[in-house]
Amino acid sequence: MKSVLIGVGQAGGKLARELVEYDERMGFGSIRGAVAVNTAKADLRNLPFETVLIGQDRVKGHGVGGDNELGAEVMQSDTNEVLSALDGRITAGVESIFVVAGLGGGTGSGGAPVLAKELQRIYDVPVYGLGILPGRDEGAMYQVNAGRSLKTFAREADALLLVDNDAFRSAGESVTEGFDSINEEIAQRVGLLLASGEAVDGVAESVVDSSEIINTLRTGGIAALGFASAEAAPDAEGNINTVMSTTRRALLSGSSLPDATDADAALLIVAGEQDAIPRKGVERARKWVEEETGSLQVRGGDFPLSSDRIATLVLLGGVERSDRLETFMERAADAQKAEAEDPTDGDPAEQWGNDELDDLL
Ligand code: GDP
Repeated sequence: MKSVLIGVGQAGGKLARELVEYDERMGFGSIRGAVAVNTAKADLRNLPFETVLIGQDRVKGHGVGGDNELGAEVMQSDTNEVLSALDGRITAGVESIFVVAGLGGGTGSGGAPVLAKELQRIYDVPVYGLGILPGRDEGAMYQVNAGRSLKTFAREADALLLVDNDAFRSAGESVTEGFDSINEEIAQRVGLLLASGEAVDGVAESVVDSSEIINTLRTGGIAALGFASAEAAPDAEGNINTVMSTTRRALLSGSSLPDATDADAALLIVAGEQDAIPRKGVERARKWVEEETGSLQVRGGDFPLSSDRIATLVLLGGVERSDRLETFMERAADAQKAEAEDPTDGDPAEQWGNDELDDLL
């Protein structure tokens, strides 16, 4: 799926760079352009694509300091500068736009939903969010920011693919130490997903195409992406169990949003040498994903590439009812309450749907 990325804020810019570099390294060519937007001048250095500094009149290039309402305001006033930077990049071949941001900070958290809304108004292609949830041990401000941002972002984008900063953390590693490795993990997953939707010369009909990604995300709301890989046997028969076990791992322990397995729709992609991908294994794994997610809309397809491994990607659409997300929304609402010193309680199961957390827009 040919896509253009817009990284907003520090994490957004870094992750966009990681994605661009992965796509180039793999020679996929699915990322057709990237732009980074920030209120902090220093965070735009070292990015190998066009950058746009917004809010100069308000914060003079020093950032919004974790104030996501200010981040939203600044994006609102300077949207035109971002749109000019995009001018001519959303060409006829581009199939989607991704707005990439860390949801716990200020610029990305506040600016990304505002930008998604503007892009929706202007372009016909789907506008997706790629948002990073703060880890458990980040402070209350990050949790509140992320809670408010993700509600708004999910509403304004066609779908919001979430990555939990706790998901790929190694034991003993702090969130900050782990950023680079987390970014690599995300770039690989998302990079493979985008590339899987590209046409491959001379291969069979079960190949994934972009419309399957778009249809899986059509229900909107929150999406998650799981991944796992294993060494492949040279023949398809020898890989039936491998496809099953990598599918299980992708969903149960390799997801960008752990424990989010109830979904409205799913897409199972099996990548590897074309001759080594077992039809029977893929079909069995697809049925298993149906049972596990409770969704009757589970699509499946191959992604033929030259590799001695079998890799499985599981894209889930509509996972907002998951326990993991409800726990997070509860954490964010608690933090907001503590900040406001308001002792009134709410039903945690209702956090997603109700107004416990203020919207940003
Ligand atoms: P902004 O520049 O104001 O948008 O703020 P940041 O982008 O620094 O956002 C802060 C949030 O993003 C925090 O919740 C961090 O955990 C997360 N974050 C910051 N940098 C990175 C990064 O390189 N990788 C990942 N995965 N998360 C990051």
